[in-house]
Amino acid sequence: MVNEIKVKSILNKHKKRDDWFLDDYSVNPYSGCSFNCIYCYIRGSKYGENMAKTLSAKINAPELLEKQLSRRAKRGEYGIIALSSSTEPYMPIEEKLKLTRKLLEIILKYRFPVEIATKSKLVLRDLDLLKEIAKNAILPDDLEPKLKHGAIISFSISTLDEKLAKILEPGAPKPIERLDAMKRCKERGFFTGICFIPVLPFLSDSEEQVEETIKTVKEYGADFIFVGGLTLFGKGPADCKTLYYKFLEKYHPELVPKYKSLYRIFFAPSKEYQKELEEKSRRLCERYGIKNGII
Ligand code: SF4
Repeated sequence: MVNEIKVKSILNKHKKRDDWFLDDYSVNPYSGCSFNCIYCYIRGSKYGENMAKTLSAKINAPELLEKQLSRRAKRGEYGIIALSSSTEPYMPIEEKLKLTRKLLEIILKYRFPVEIATKSKLVLRDLDLLKEIAKNAILPDDLEPKLKHGAIISFSISTLDEKLAKILEPGAPKPIERLDAMKRCKERGFFTGICFIPVLPFLSDSEEQVEETIKTVKEYGADFIFVGGLTLFGKGPADCKTLYYKFLEKYHPELVPKYKSLYRIFFAPSKEYQKELEEKSRRLCERYGIKNGII
């Protein structure tokens, strides 16, 4: 049973456009997430260890979005809306509540471009609306010459290894289902790709693993892939850093010292590691003829 809550605002305007997803706005129809990924950065004391249990639907989201987007549209403040940045827009509960779908109807009405970030094939249900958004959205002036797509659909994966994904993303669909859904989006003419984030140090980041992922993603028809490392936050019992180390201790104790030396006191892996990952992905994307990033 999902909690129903009312919020004061639903459209978040970012101070700066996101470098990866290119969004100027984000909308999160839910709070918490039943996919419950151990590495999820939104974890913490607010949600407890199990984000599925604290999942809430923002039931006044459509009403608020209507007001907030109509104001932005009147002022011509167009920008890509990320759906979503801190929850999953297509959890199983969405099948019944259709909250994300209602928000897309409003986004279409006001002609805003959208960037869907999901792990679920339920997005296929809304391809009718997304098709209209893709055709009719008004892109911000500076993006228009480079992008040409009013709807971007990205599927996120952290590994192609099903067993590992089941442990780290216990409530999410299998990686192969996400790839299949992406393929279907491509067949329907969408601009679509993979967000290979977080790449897991020593578990999905070797030359062979990154190559296999990029090659597979290309075979499934992706227009783009973007690759990013794992961030680990917090010290509390529900924080992703604590839960991720518990996972390592249980399944890969030999990796604990390696992680400690890679992260030291920081939330991100060392600069050298990040640079190496960036270079590896750029080189492999070139080899397989796939865009490394949306534009
Ligand atoms: S699907 Fe996304 S929002 Fe949900 S738990 Fe996983 S990483 Fe977090």
